[in-house]
Amino acid sequence: MSDVWDLVIVGAGPAGSAAALGALHAAPGLRVLLLDRTDFPRDKPCGDGIAPHALDVLAAVGVHGLLDDKVPVHRLELVSGTDRVSRLMARNAYVVPRAELDARLLERAVAAGACFRRRRVSGVRLGQTHAVVDCAEPGADATGAPIRARTVVGADGAHSVVRRAVAPGRRPRSALALRGYAPVQDATRGRQLIVFGPRRQPAYAWSFDRGDGLANVGYGELLRRRGPAPSRALLLGQLAELLPGASTGGAGWRGHHLPLSSWPWRHPDGRVLLVGDAAHLVNPVTGEGIYYAVATGVLAGRAVVRALDTDPRPSGGAGAGGEHRRAVRLLLGRHLLHTRFTAGLVQVPALVQAAVRASAAQQHVFDDLVELGLGGGRITAGVVREMSRHVVPPTR
Ligand SMILES: Cc1cc2nc3c(=O)[nH]c(=O)nc-3n(C[C@H](O)[C@H](O)[C@H](O)COP(=O)(O)OP(=O)(O)OC[C@H]3O[C@@H](n4cnc5c(N)ncnc54)[C@H](O)[C@@H]3O)c2cc1C
Repeated sequence: MSDVWDLVIVGAGPAGSAAALGALHAAPGLRVLLLDRTDFPRDKPCGDGIAPHALDVLAAVGVHGLLDDKVPVHRLELVSGTDRVSRLMARNAYVVPRAELDARLLERAVAAGACFRRRRVSGVRLGQTHAVVDCAEPGADATGAPIRARTVVGADGAHSVVRRAVAPGRRPRSALALRGYAPVQDATRGRQLIVFGPRRQPAYAWSFDRGDGLANVGYGELLRRRGPAPSRALLLGQLAELLPGASTGGAGWRGHHLPLSSWPWRHPDGRVLLVGDAAHLVNPVTGEGIYYAVATGVLAGRAVVRALDTDPRPSGGAGAGGEHRRAVRLLLGRHLLHTRFTAGLVQVPALVQAAVRASAAQQHVFDDLVELGLGGGRITAGVVREMSRHVVPPTR
């Protein structure tokens, strides 16, 4: 069995590295292999906003001080039409380029005992006693030797090949977003600024101050199930309209899909687990996905260890998928229901406006909405009460 890994993780973004960390924290001797088609550091189109919840999860698996050298962001500002709220968040967030964040996380996973290899994975096959991961070195003409594993975690992002092998089916609701890096403007310094647009929600432009003279700026919106996707020119045009001047001097423009979460969250049984974007876990209201990636990554690592402990035979691990489904639903099930419901509400512009007004009126409403948008929060009674006071009926 020596050529069979206990756990092979496809994708070494936040979800993949967190899966390795979760598994190795629970079972330090586990044989864990991380595969990614790119070398690190590598860029990933993202707003780079990191919620404190993600750092809490990492601390629980022994990752401390990951961003201690970075400038935290305290202030969040939301704008909808002429309504605006600018408040300090209950806890600091960070804005760190993914090239840095992901490389640091991978470094921690390797330090914990994971092996890293650069491989492009083309598919996963399921046998009776193990899974087979088909892959090749990027650029190689031929497929390389397949890799055998007792369990596999698919952490290979929005267009996951692992997902295609074990959970094909309906495409998720998706958004498309484009980001670049531009010199930070005085009006947006020291904050995360979000300006809601009039198109299909979630639709907003952002400027997130990195704290080093540059801001991550961008725009994204919900995609239609059918029909053409918005062009790069449209996305840049919306950014310029909603945040005039924010893209001036910008560079590094790149877009990417966001597979939005729904409810109920489904996951198959078996020895192949899905996490992060591959599990269609991006907040359908805010586009936040790093916390979900890290949280479900760690849960998957732990589920693998539990399944291998329960069935230590060489063929063990088939219980991991069920363990993972139960753990993710326990942590996020209610939250995903609330965010799915909220994603429907924000289609009504008057409710987005009401949320901004209610947040401006009451700190607790602002705090609750931040929890819903960045962490595992729910729609609270206080939010409903305060929003109902601020809904402006449409004029005839
Ligand atoms: C423009 C934009 C802005 C966003 N802003 C934010 C934000 O501010 N905050 C936030 O929390 N979230 C944000 N998100 C969402 C966030 O980027 C994702 O949710 C997050 O990256 C998910 O992490 P992951 O590890 O699941 O996947 P990824 O980060 O996509 O990592 C997947 C990894 O798998 C590798 N891979 C893919 N296919 C293969 C293959 N076949 N073989 C081998 N390796 C493979 C890739 O190289 C990659 O390293 C944003 C997304 C976009 C597009």
